[in-house]
Amino acid sequence: MHMTNNGTNQLTPKKQEATKPAHSKFWVNAHQYFDRVFQTMNLDQTWRSVLSSPKRVLTVSCPVRMDDGRIQVFTGYRAQHNGARGPFKGGLRYDPSVSLDEVMALAMLQTWKNALVDLPFGGAKGGIVCDNKKLSVGERERLTRRYTSEVMPIIGPNQDIPAPDAGTDAQVMAWLLDTYSMMVGHQELGVVTGKPVVLGGSVGREEATGRGIMNVLRKFLATQNKTFTDIRVAVQGFGNVGFHTARLLDARGATVVAISAKEGGIYDESGIDIDAAGLYYKEQGVLTDFPGGDAITNEELLVCDCDVLIPAAMENTITEEVAPHIKARVVCEGANGPTTPKADELLGEMGVTVLPDILSNAGGVTVSYFEWVQGLDNYFWNLKRVQDELQRIMERAFDEVNAKADEAGCDYRTAAYTIAVGRVAEACRLKGLFP
Ligand code: GLU
Repeated sequence: MHMTNNGTNQLTPKKQEATKPAHSKFWVNAHQYFDRVFQTMNLDQTWRSVLSSPKRVLTVSCPVRMDDGRIQVFTGYRAQHNGARGPFKGGLRYDPSVSLDEVMALAMLQTWKNALVDLPFGGAKGGIVCDNKKLSVGERERLTRRYTSEVMPIIGPNQDIPAPDAGTDAQVMAWLLDTYSMMVGHQELGVVTGKPVVLGGSVGREEATGRGIMNVLRKFLATQNKTFTDIRVAVQGFGNVGFHTARLLDARGATVVAISAKEGGIYDESGIDIDAAGLYYKEQGVLTDFPGGDAITNEELLVCDCDVLIPAAMENTITEEVAPHIKARVVCEGANGPTTPKADELLGEMGVTVLPDILSNAGGVTVSYFEWVQGLDNYFWNLKRVQDELQRIMERAFDEVNAKADEAGCDYRTAAYTIAVGRVAEACRLKGLFP
């Protein structure tokens, strides 16, 4: 095919150019949030493309022997967004919806998040396209080990450190640790965080994202002269983040009026017993039949009568269609990217305060940082130290974002991005280019 000297294809009609595969909505949204703030920041425009492009993206095929003897090939990704501030760091997700665009967008969000809480890390994210719930334990183990060996050249304690995300847990991290350690010939604790505590994981890591959300929400409520006992909360998502958030808020006197999992959830205006719901969900795998509340859909949860809405499931749940119907006065983002930019604007116009993901859900990666430090030192902290240091970091980050929002007269997301992007841009500027 004939190519012009600027690389464009002369034979391709204009119409076809317009239909060339576009980026996914989520990727576009993540870039819009970045662009919106970058334009206001008075930074050298030449850094724009450096800051918004992933440094490295690896796609791997993972052939796995299934229990019935067949070989199935799974596609996996690892996207490393920006490493100016330190080794890449971010979760590993197992879900049918995983795509290259999704991990690239999530890796970018992770860069901002790590910078906002001032961790010495760049941002990364990985994923495997799979129906996690349908895999047997053995299949999941073989898939994890094969993925680890495929991404081996680009991960490591000083290169890129994966951690749990949607669909993965401490067991998956244990297989990753073991595979990597077997291949380098020694135990390498720093290669992964969110490990089981008996294998060098940190106490307090499992609940850390929920605890961080609780810390940030408490600080925000204090600015309104409120405490947890004044609020009714709805939590969408009952995985690691949603469950621990609901549990910690319930234990501190908040009335958790609604919770939901993938298939739907329950509403009870007098408050749900979260510990009981947690046990029920563990046994049954669904919440809808839980006797302590009325069944609701996920859509109904988002617009239910409450003061604080915590989307803690997946991205793109609060859309421009949903936003106008939201009754909560505060949206505290537990998931990564749950609110689309259009919805974010509408919420702003409605006077709803949004506590953005890169601030409110940064507790997980913060305790991952503690775990990494403990692993490198071979010296392990007690739970009180983990919780106290987490609280200190989350509160400092909230104070910085709050002060920036006051000073600039902007919303919290803009303030958080301004701080985070500014830090990454400054690191890039000081390091300069090689060669
Ligand atoms: N997956 C989590 C997040 O989205 C944690 C990442 C980590 O601990 O590295 O922040």
